[in-house]
Amino acid sequence: MPRVSRVYAYLGPAELLDQVRPGVEGEPVTSAADVERLCRDEPFTYVVALDGTLRIAPRRSEHVACAGGRSVLAAGEITFHGTAVTEVSNQSTGYCPGEESWPAVADAIDRAGLERPDGFTHTFVFRHCSGCGELNVVKDDYHVCVFCEKDLDPV
Ligand SMILES: [Zn+2]
Repeated sequence: MPRVSRVYAYLGPAELLDQVRPGVEGEPVTSAADVERLCRDEPFTYVVALDGTLRIAPRRSEHVACAGGRSVLAAGEITFHGTAVTEVSNQSTGYCPGEESWPAVADAIDRAGLERPDGFTHTFVFRHCSGCGELNVVKDDYHVCVFCEKDLDPV
């Protein structure tokens, strides 16, 4: 049964969006063969495109470039071993996807026929400060802006 997924628009710096060129988005991963040829020593940047396809790019790539400048269903970092996904996170300060993006990630990995964990192996919580507008990565439930020390909204 199709699930309703949340769509994440790009929130990062506009100058990175300006650098996105057509046709340079991440490589689609649609089968085990697509990951068998990868160098697997380090994580990749990934996005789940709006059509549900997992796309990956070298780790230092910007998520917005991997997505071709478009909105996504999920974004983060992913590590493969053989044809299995060993680690996957929602770490993307460009898109700030929530933990609720996991079903889109799981569906994309399942469509490619890869083994995967049952959830994010690392989960990040992103909050924009209502005071200064800066993006915070919330650690250890410490909901205070590191830039201006205002309390961050808990949800
Ligand atoms: Zn602040």
